[in-house]
Amino acid sequence: MIGCVNCNSPLVLNIDAKNNDFKCKECGEKYGLVFENKMLKILNKKKQIKFFINDLSSCDKDFSLKNVYEMYNKGYLDCVKMLNSKYNQSDNFWQLSINKLTSKISHNINIKLSKALNSTDEVYSCNNCMSEYSSEDALSNNYSCIICSSQLVIKNNLNEIEELKKNLIILENNWSTSF
Ligand SMILES: [Zn+2]
Ligand SMILES: [Zn+2]
Repeated sequence: MIGCVNCNSPLVLNIDAKNNDFKCKECGEKYGLVFENKMLKILNKKKQIKFFINDLSSCDKDFSLKNVYEMYNKGYLDCVKMLNSKYNQSDNFWQLSINKLTSKISHNINIKLSKALNSTDEVYSCNNCMSEYSSEDALSNNYSCIICSSQLVIKNNLNEIEELKKNLIILENNWSTSF
């Protein structure tokens, strides 16, 4: 469980992207949210957590309202309705639960990982022009590239598997980074 550095409750941030203001829902402790190399960083003066999120369109700058909408659509953050008794209506608040985000991302990585590990469809690729072929197409052209005639090789997904495993480890080591 990732807890607030100040009050120790499970970390849920109230998100005010317009004013770049991110606070612990329970105690108001301030945090910073930054995108860097497809990593969402959540920082505090004492600690930081990194999340590898590669399915957002703009993720290499400050956290914006656009990121909020996109993360909401992908199920990474929540929209909470709270009754405003003064006006007898409800207001919407954006909330980011760090623990929900962690399990959502590790779930996504695990799905991709098991797909990559269990993949039975062989893909052939050309190391010269980087074209890819199904095993059927590769066979029908005698295992040479239709575009440039180079010899085709079976493409392994080891790189992809290594990358996914690295991201899982980043998630598991989260919140242990203190400074
Ligand atoms: Zn707190
Ligand atoms: Zn080729």
